[in-house]
Amino acid sequence: MSRFWSPIVHSLTPYVPGEQPQMTKLIKLNTNESPYGPPPRALEAIRAATGDMLRLYSDPTSERLRTAISNAHGVSMDEIFVGNGSDEVLAHAFQALLKHDGPLLTPDITYSFYPVYCSLYGITHEPVPLNAAMQIDVEDYLRPCGGIVLPNPNAPTGIALGLGRIETLLRAHPDRVVVIDEAYVDFGADTAIPLIRHFPNLLIVRTLSKAHALAGLRVGYAIGQPELIEGLNRVKDSFNSYPLDLLAQVGATAAIEDREWLARTTGKIIKSRIGLTSSLRGLGFEVLPSQANFVFARHPDRDAARLAAALRERAIIVRHFRTPRIAEWLRITIGTDEECRIVTDALDAILKQNA
Ligand code: PMP
Repeated sequence: MSRFWSPIVHSLTPYVPGEQPQMTKLIKLNTNESPYGPPPRALEAIRAATGDMLRLYSDPTSERLRTAISNAHGVSMDEIFVGNGSDEVLAHAFQALLKHDGPLLTPDITYSFYPVYCSLYGITHEPVPLNAAMQIDVEDYLRPCGGIVLPNPNAPTGIALGLGRIETLLRAHPDRVVVIDEAYVDFGADTAIPLIRHFPNLLIVRTLSKAHALAGLRVGYAIGQPELIEGLNRVKDSFNSYPLDLLAQVGATAAIEDREWLARTTGKIIKSRIGLTSSLRGLGFEVLPSQANFVFARHPDRDAARLAAALRERAIIVRHFRTPRIAEWLRITIGTDEECRIVTDALDAILKQNA
């Protein structure tokens, strides 16, 4: 508390980011990063740009990067907005598009940054409970509201909605923006990008932090009809938030162009997810059907905090949330097959110790 703070700062509960310990020899399955290195072509492009080019300011319009995004998704240049990570893109979307009469609806169990943005930007927020199967029930989002934000697949459950369900939401709210956060869509769910042709109220947010293995580069983007993109640009320009740095632009461009690398590595992660899901079920865990690069699992003992602590003693970190509704669950990022084997062996040993 400080007498110097604006009143809004007193009421903020800041987002708690996943831990980024600086120790080596750690099996790090807590923040949904890729277990594979970034695409070699992205690394080459970054290396090539670290010479004399760094003298220059980066392109304020990220023209080449937007061209790569345009080619990858079949959308036009004025349907693309880029930002420093999808967190920044989301921040601009909350400010530019989601403050209207009526509460903003988000799932009650979801990416925990959304409520933080609501309080920061003075947006009335109403969390909508997941159903008993931990799924988003679209019927609960058909009432009047100020807008909707949903990740698809949802985090930390990993469960995805079909496009028909998203269409139902878009039709129900022609005058409100529906943001679909597709941070994890490349791991098996359907993208809603084709729907932007038919729905001027749809904004899709993407990141290069997960499937493209470039979390440290901080690149995200949004796709929607030009009217929505124009709104985002107005907020960004009013903030004077700087365009992507030069290395981020060249690295992200090369990563998006390497579609073969993306298909290959996401395919490997999906295969490992199937393996980890069945090993965990073999140990007695309930595992939600994930279409993301993580699984959400609960042991009948329901003591997830103890399991997370025991894994940590073995230098394996996974995510445990203290939020009461999900305090019995662990979110485990899909690592390499070797890492998945080590984490299941460790859980097996911990559970036997306790038996
Ligand atoms: N959306 C969701 C659902 C996420 O889980 C994350 C990562 N924590 C983000 C957005 C933000 O990703 P980034 O800022 O790295 O693009």
